Formats: sequence, C-alpha cells, structure tokens
Amino acid sequence: MMDRRDFLRKMLMALPVGSAIPWTWFSSCTPNSFPWTVPSFDGVVGVIGGGVAGLQAALTLQQQGIQVKIFEAASYLGGRILSQFPGNEKNILQENGVELGADFIFGPNTFFYQRVRSSTSTVSSAEGIRSYMSEGTEFLAVPDLSRGKDYNNFISLRDQILESEDSHGSSIEDFISKLEEEETNTLSTDEDINAAQTTFTNLRTLARGLISNQFGLSLQELTVGEYLEKEKQRTESGKPYSTQNKSLRDIVNILYGSVESLVQRRIVSEIEHAEGEKIRINFQDGQSDRVDKLIVALPLGVIKNDLKFQPQLPEEKLQALDEIEVTDCLKIFLRLSERIWSRDLRYIYLPTSISTVVVHPHKPILMGYAFGQHARDFLKGSGAELASTLFIDILDRFFGEDRVSKHLRDTEKGGEAGSFNWSRESKDAPYTKGGFSYIKTGNPAVRTVLSQPIRQDIFFAGEYTHDKGHAGTIHGAMETGHRAAYEVMRSF
Ligand SMILES: Cc1cc2nc3c(=O)[nH]c(=O)nc-3n(C[C@H](O)[C@H](O)[C@H](O)COP(=O)(O)OP(=O)(O)OC[C@H]3O[C@@H](n4cnc5c(N)ncnc54)[C@H](O)[C@@H]3O)c2cc1C
Repeated sequence: MMDRRDFLRKMLMALPVGSAIPWTWFSSCTPNSFPWTVPSFDGVVGVIGGGVAGLQAALTLQQQGIQVKIFEAASYLGGRILSQFPGNEKNILQENGVELGADFIFGPNTFFYQRVRSSTSTVSSAEGIRSYMSEGTEFLAVPDLSRGKDYNNFISLRDQILESEDSHGSSIEDFISKLEEEETNTLSTDEDINAAQTTFTNLRTLARGLISNQFGLSLQELTVGEYLEKEKQRTESGKPYSTQNKSLRDIVNILYGSVESLVQRRIVSEIEHAEGEKIRINFQDGQSDRVDKLIVALPLGVIKNDLKFQPQLPEEKLQALDEIEVTDCLKIFLRLSERIWSRDLRYIYLPTSISTVVVHPHKPILMGYAFGQHARDFLKGSGAELASTLFIDILDRFFGEDRVSKHLRDTEKGGEAGSFNWSRESKDAPYTKGGFSYIKTGNPAVRTVLSQPIRQDIFFAGEYTHDKGHAGTIHGAMETGHRAAYEVMRSF
C-alpha cells in the first residue's frame, strides 16, 4: 500500500505546470506588474478572510479592475495583526505600547518591509543583546554562554541538524535521543554513562531555549525539516524591525485602505461548489451569496475545524491537513513604570514554561510567550493570571531585587499586566483558532498541496500555504494572497 508521504510526493509530481509560475516578491519582482495582459472578466471574485493574505489578494485583483467581495467574520481587519483589544477602539500600541499579535517586520528583503518604509512609518532594528537563563537560576548573555562546554556541544548539535539531509521528518527531540543512544552505547562504566546523560540533559535545555522556543514549538513538535525552513526564512528575509510611530494595524489600514469598502462582515460556514456552476457561500446566519471564483484566505485552524466544503476537500488535501497543525500560544505583556534594562537588551530565552521574553526597544515593556503544551497547561489551570504571576517571578529573578514587581505595582506611573490568548480554543481570537502553522511530519510538500486550487475555481491563500519558506509571517501571508490573485487571473 502507498504510504502517506509517497502519496503526497506523487501528488506533487502531478501538479499543473502553472504552479511553477514564479510569484514571490523576493528580489526585484514588482507586485503590481504582470508579465501578460489580464483577460477581461465580468464575474465576481470572493475572498474569505480579511487578514493580510485576503486583503492582499483583494488589492491585487482590484488593481487589475476585477470586481471583488471580501467576507470577514471579525469586526476588525488584519486578523493576527492586532493592535487593540477587539471591541475596544483604543489603539493599545498607542495607549500601552504593545502589539497583541504579530510584532516584527522582517526585512529588508521583504515586500512588507519595503512598503512600510515607503509609508510614513519609521522602523528601528529589533536586534539587540540576547540573554539566556540557564538551569532556571543563572542568567548569561549569549556571548558569555558561548565560553562554556555545554554551548560548544550545542553548536555542534545545531551544525549536525543543519547538515542532516535524511532526518527531515524526525523531531529535534528524536534527533537528540538518537545521538544520546549512539553515544551511551559506546560507554561501559556507570560513571561515564551518567556524565553523558547530564551532557544531553544540558543540551536539551539549550536546544529548547535557543532553538525550538524561538519558533513557538517544543523539541517534540519541531521537526528537523521545519527548523531548516525557519533558518532559511531568517537568512532570506533579513533582520527583525519594529515600528515606532505607527502600530501594525495603522500600517494595514494604510496599505489596504482602498479595499475596505469591499468588506462584508460575514461568518462563512460552508462552501458549495460544482464544476461549471457558481460557487455558493453559506453564512452562519443562514444567508448565502454566489461568486464566480473564490479565494479562501482563512487561518489553518478554521479550515481544519470549522469550515465545511460541499463536496468535501479532495483526498490529498485532507491527508495534508492531517500532517499540519497550529500552535497554541499565550502572549503576556508587562508594562513597568520605568525601564530597568540597558538599551540594547532585546531577548531573554528561558528554558521554562514561559520561553521567550521580548524586551521592547523603546518602552518599558516586556512581552513573554508560552507555547504549545505550556500554553495549554496555563489555560487549563488558573489561566493567564497564573502565567503572568510566574512571568513576573522569573523576571524578578532575572533583573534582581524584585524590581519588576515593584515597577509593575506602580500603576499611577503606568504599571500594568495583560495577556492575549492565541490558542485554538481562545475566546480572545475566536476566528483564528491558534497561533501559526507547523508541519508535524516535516514534509514540506504539505504546504504545496494545501496551496493548490480546486479545479480552477477555488484558490487558497494564508500563511500556512506559503511553501517557499515564509509560512507563519506577515510578509509570507501577503505573498500567498498575491499568488492566489495571480492564479485566479491566470484562470480567466
Ligand atoms: C502571537 C503571534 C505573533 C506573531 N508574530 C509575528 C511577527 O512578529 N512577525 C511576523 O511576520 N509574523 C508574526 N506572526 C504571524 C503573522 O501574524 C501571520 O502569519 C499573518 O498575520 C497571517 O495572516 P493571514 O491572512 O494568513 O491569516 P489571519 O491574519 O489569521 O487572517 C484570517 C482572517 O480570516 C477571518 N476569518 C476566520 N474565520 C472566518 C470565517 N468563518 N468567515 C469569515 N472570515 C473568517 C479572521 O477573522 C481573519 O481576519 C505572529 C502570529 C501570532 C499569532
């Protein structure tokens, strides 16, 4: 019997030639220019989802004079770009200095970065000193850490992972366990075996702090294939930047203001489609609409759990959906009454249940993330409050003398704690159903299969469909929207 991976591989080989059209914006490709004349089309293209993928798809089509309707469930546009609490018109970045969803703009090699620069917003590098908490008690800046033996072992492990060509499907945890087994098999005394086990325990702690936590995944969840893709993404897109005078929401409004009038507030529940007929979109309130072509730019969690297709999605897409998942993520932020760190400290990596701390470049703000099982554990228990308490405790130890608690208590001078839940069960973001996608099996073909259209009628966009290494990012999602619009116009 053909196994799942063979099936997907075979599927890929059978993909239409059109799928090889270059559509990425990296290098010099100009998004508004098309290398052919777009045939006239008097039908309507529907776009479901008003995140950056859907908005970009609509904008690209609108610029070619095509009639578009956008269906968006939430009361705001931008999806995972969220600069204010839903239902509260206060721009939390202006008021509190935080972004609740995406934070960084990767650049300078991304289209998003270039557009942000050409708008009136100023950006500053979000790179800076990285610090690391070792064994829960000791804090070391990464340059200091690098003088230790454990760190050298870690670098050697990372190099082995980066060079491995046949382990894409194995998790980083399995990769380390295999090395540990090979190593301990060569040892004969208990003393040597114990020493080797300690070395591997330290290695796991470092790998958690310096690799998997950065991508919001545990060592069991992050596969070698996914890690290689993330590294490629980092090299290709460039450094992280943050905006200074505008929130990411402001930037979305600037970039996509011209398509706002095309948006209808609708929760889509079902898509009915048949060859040669208009596509029927059913809404949760019992109403429906019909369009000629459709771009589905919904989050993966919604595609997996909420949206029905009639007839159902093709078998290869259903199989691919089994291989891909969405992270659960809890974002916690603390605003202190004053900044208590040096200007260049930017990240603190912790091998604890709150894994990564991002230090705001200009304001006295600390943002922490709990991912995967840790996020689920917090949300099952006393929730975000418990996570905040733990976060404050860890940071009190990091900065010393309970300084974080003290400056947080000073509410008159702005001390404040908050959180936003990006888990699959979240009530904060009911239309997102998770943080960002990752492939459970490390098989990169999965994203390509999910990005493929059904016939030449229903097209797919959204961060999870980026199969060229930039899934889980703003610019990657925008590119998929542009690609889907491009495919629609090719189909006329
Ligand atoms: C906590 C967090 C931090 C991140 N940090 C960064 C970062 O620093 N830099 C970066 O580049 N990327 C970051 N990302 C990733 C980035 O935000 C996403 O990759 C990108 O915004 C996804 O865009 P999208 O259009 O694919 O999906 P979304 O933004 O999720 O848009 C999908 C839209 O579909 C709508 N929708 C859902 N269900 C329905 C329905 N039934 N009917 C109609 N509409 C529906 C939703 O309301 C939403 O507006 C982060 C993500 C998270 C969660």
